[in-house]
Amino acid sequence: MQPFSYVRPASAADAVGAFAAAGSGARFIAGGTTLYDLMKLRIEQPGHLIDVTAIRGLDVIETGGDRLRFGALAPMSAVAADPVVLRDYPVLAEALTKAASQQLRNMATVGGNLLQRTRCMYFRNGAGSTSTVGVYPCNKRAPGSGCAAIGGLDRGQAVLGTSASCTAVSPGDWPVALTAMDATIEVLGPAGTRTLPIAELYRLPGDTPHLEFTLAPGEMITAITVPKTPAGRRSTYHKIRDRESYAFALASAAVALEMAGERVTIARIALGGMATKPWRAHEAEQAVIGQALTPETALAAGRIALKGASPGKSNGFKVELGARTVADALLIASARNRA
Ligand code: SF4
Repeated sequence: MQPFSYVRPASAADAVGAFAAAGSGARFIAGGTTLYDLMKLRIEQPGHLIDVTAIRGLDVIETGGDRLRFGALAPMSAVAADPVVLRDYPVLAEALTKAASQQLRNMATVGGNLLQRTRCMYFRNGAGSTSTVGVYPCNKRAPGSGCAAIGGLDRGQAVLGTSASCTAVSPGDWPVALTAMDATIEVLGPAGTRTLPIAELYRLPGDTPHLEFTLAPGEMITAITVPKTPAGRRSTYHKIRDRESYAFALASAAVALEMAGERVTIARIALGGMATKPWRAHEAEQAVIGQALTPETALAAGRIALKGASPGKSNGFKVELGARTVADALLIASARNRA
């Protein structure tokens, strides 16, 4: 492993200052559930680690007022167990609970989880040689080297938002639920504070798949806010995977609904496991407005959500699986909070 320096500042301002002083080889670290793995695999080789876990007040969970606010250092397990989140926003609690094992949820933070990197096996397992490209070409790991997944083993790859340079799936569950709920990200950096909608945090791969997030160098996520909505009570995160526990999504859907009687008045739908970034399905949302949800209308919306999918040689099954996952999520959500 490459040698690195380590500091543990006591304030967010000091952390940002330490990053700026360290230069381009610096990385923030919190729970470490992704970054340490990637360092062991020699995919990430930071020269300086800025450990933010000593910063007070960044783990606060606020559920009063007109929004939920989660400090970036709040553990995933703590947010998933919050009574207001559990009761009024099951889509958030379920996304967190299904994201990882209990041990990982205790360590991982809700801010750090937004910046998970892909599980594409060519990305993760390809750095183990002395060449700059590694064992496999990967434009995300070694820009300009090519993409081993295109034409390779692509069963788990994305079918939405892909490019000729990269088809890697965005791996998160929590970001998908937050995308459906129109969350906002609070950021602190060298230029001060700013907020951005979660939809603007993630980039499509295009011809620069190594650029995954829109954070500027030295910016750290400090909090996540979610506007309160009655749709939260009629929501779900539905995740389909190869095995029931501790696996990444083959397909997932975050759905939240408002209904008048049997008919949908407001719908929020986001997809995971199928796209190169958390994927909001606006057209499918419009398709269910005014509808009573039946297996037929829900599947029709699911098919709209997957419109434009572009599978490779072995992941065509994801198109139908994704449509059915959306349909199931719509039916699950619509059955909630009927009392
Ligand atoms: Fe790398 Fe993306 Fe290709 Fe995977 S799909 S090998 S991450 S460029």
